[in-house]
Amino acid sequence: MSGDLAESESRKLLQRLRDTLAAPGRSQDRLDNITHHIADSIGSEVCSIYLFRDPDTLELCATEGLRAEAVHRTRLRLGEGLVGRVARTGRPLNTPNAPSEPGFRFMPETGEEVYPAFLGVPIQRVGEKLGVLVVQSRNARLFSDDEIYGLEVVAMVLAEMAELGSFSGGESNGMPRRHRFPTMFRGTGAQDGAAEGQVWLHEPRVVITNPVNDDPQRERARLNEAVAMLRTTLDTMLSDEGIGAGDHKDIMETYRMLAHSRSWLRRMEEDIDLGLSAEAAVEKEQSHARVRLEGSADPYLRERLHDLDDLANRLLRILTGQGRDTGAALPENPILIARNIGPAELLEYGRKLRGVVLEEGSVGSHAAIVARALSIPLVVNAGRIGSEALNGDAILVDGDVGLVHLRPEDSVAVAFRDKIAMQAEAQKRYAGLRNLPAVSTDGTRIELYMNAGLMADLPSLHGSGAEGVGLFRTELQFLTRTRVPKRGDLAGLYRRVMDNAGDLPVVFRTLDIGSDKVLPYMKPQDEPNPAMGWRAIRLGLDKRGVLRMQLQALLRAAAGRALHVMFPFIAEPAELYAARRILDEQIERERAMGHDLPSLIRVGAMLETPSMAFAPPAFFSSCDFLSIGGNDLKQFFFAADRENEAVRRRYDTLSPSFLLLLRQIIERADAAGTPISFCGEDAGRPIEAATFAALGMRRLSMRPASIGPVKHLLRRIDLSELAKVLQQGIDEGVPTLRPAVTDWLARNG
Ligand code: PEP
Ligand code: MG
Repeated sequence: MSGDLAESESRKLLQRLRDTLAAPGRSQDRLDNITHHIADSIGSEVCSIYLFRDPDTLELCATEGLRAEAVHRTRLRLGEGLVGRVARTGRPLNTPNAPSEPGFRFMPETGEEVYPAFLGVPIQRVGEKLGVLVVQSRNARLFSDDEIYGLEVVAMVLAEMAELGSFSGGESNGMPRRHRFPTMFRGTGAQDGAAEGQVWLHEPRVVITNPVNDDPQRERARLNEAVAMLRTTLDTMLSDEGIGAGDHKDIMETYRMLAHSRSWLRRMEEDIDLGLSAEAAVEKEQSHARVRLEGSADPYLRERLHDLDDLANRLLRILTGQGRDTGAALPENPILIARNIGPAELLEYGRKLRGVVLEEGSVGSHAAIVARALSIPLVVNAGRIGSEALNGDAILVDGDVGLVHLRPEDSVAVAFRDKIAMQAEAQKRYAGLRNLPAVSTDGTRIELYMNAGLMADLPSLHGSGAEGVGLFRTELQFLTRTRVPKRGDLAGLYRRVMDNAGDLPVVFRTLDIGSDKVLPYMKPQDEPNPAMGWRAIRLGLDKRGVLRMQLQALLRAAAGRALHVMFPFIAEPAELYAARRILDEQIERERAMGHDLPSLIRVGAMLETPSMAFAPPAFFSSCDFLSIGGNDLKQFFFAADRENEAVRRRYDTLSPSFLLLLRQIIERADAAGTPISFCGEDAGRPIEAATFAALGMRRLSMRPASIGPVKHLLRRIDLSELAKVLQQGIDEGVPTLRPAVTDWLARNG
């Protein structure tokens, strides 16, 4: 058969499928007709459609050639048999002798044993698995490349039709309707809290209403026009002064290269010649990229495939006029679902969101930092929720345990609401403690501060009962822009933060970037181990311009009032001394320029590496104050990456070794008369907070929502008694003090 003939045959088949699917009647009849047309057109004795009944089970839903009794009876698990293998890998399987293939499963009820030639292709839509399309033949032969390609095009049309509900519409054929049944996703909790609301997709799926074309010439023209438009947009973006130099530009260059790739365009044009519409052709290529992405561990290749995916999305938006910026309004209690999201975009949504669920992301990502700053429950690593959820679907997010319930069953929703109500009840109870000090029953006073990173955090300061801001992370203003912020802008922001805090102190931590916090406009350092690399104060001391500018902004903002500056990640005393010298130089400069100076300047160091527990006494007495960055200190003490799910929970904060380290640091600070606080996440966990207080820590800084629970507990316990429990456990050499502490708190707190 000549190429043209194959193309016209393929187009005829697709048009026939479209008409069949559009015809009124039972969906089962439509499916049956489809298998008949495909078998007829391809000239195979058998054509079968298997669809997912749930995420793990495929069901034979229609067949031409196999026994009718097997329909809706024959089921396979994902990965089981050849059909299950096609579904799992997302790739075609072509064999002249199916029974000899590894993993073949004999299904006598189908009568398939007389058809050894087997070709299965996945029915999938942008990587979302929907089912498998199979043709089989009595003649033991391999199917040709053209036949494979042709069947993939058919599968693409079926996938679009499935998305539109053509298989499950009308009366039930025994299959659960897609996007209708309750589904639970297990991810990782990256910000605590529970929320109920409605789905808001950051990038709603583009709906393709007609995957089949009637006029290949016209579709080619539409595709070429859209690609030209995409290229022009990229060119404009690249030539735009605003984009600046550096990495962003590199990314756009790569995009432009991909958008100009001949082979990408050629493949889509071939799909159109076989009968797909321009949109469906783009999606078919996107599906391929997604499948390859899932199967690849090579970071370079993954990045390129991500780029291709993004380009395909842009192209689809051009072709359909759908997607973002459609002007649709956010639903009530919106819960954002995205594959991933940048910090700036998340900030744009701001506190309007009730929760955020990301398919990818990580606990320490920028989005997580923003979600934490906004106190929005966040679940990351939530699997393929974006392809399952529809805008407006009911959804429950539990950031405490990392669970998401999409379209929840009533019983789940009721239990969840109980949990939210209990939390609200507890918050009310804590609100009553707002103006009371955190004094334990033995009379020890603990000062509780809050952590912040955005102007938006400040309103919580007075409501939370915090005695000030113990840690203001300044990197967010740098992370959410496309270039280094201006000194005047920063000074304005810092001034507003201090104005809002009124008489309460705010400890500003200078820029802590590097490691996982990479500025979009900074050349990425290809470091083998960025957490132990060029970050925080190391970067500040090597690239002094930014540090100087930030210190000037702080000095100006604090004119006439107290300024507390803290330098992050001090691993040896000399780093603090050098940073302090830079600060002194800026003070002199400001004075010389005639600017008002702060009325008081206090300089502190963050202790985040075990080395500082052994620093000479002179270091401890030279600081105005100290703060333990427990998140980093713990990861370096145990050599367990705080970003790595496989190890990050492996070592307990309440292990005797870590507590002895903390006690040593506290004792040394006390001996020098230097105030010390703890500002890592653990400070906000009541059990940990009580333990630190019993070790002698008198200042804790935490998320505002944690202040109530921590204060509530501290006010009910005798810290000297808890200290005895700790000492006893340490003396006995228990692996962790958690059981002893929890038990004691349950009896006494
Ligand atoms: C810490 O390391 O504990 C800390 C407070 O800093 P960050 O979490 O910003 O690294
Ligand atoms: Mg840190």
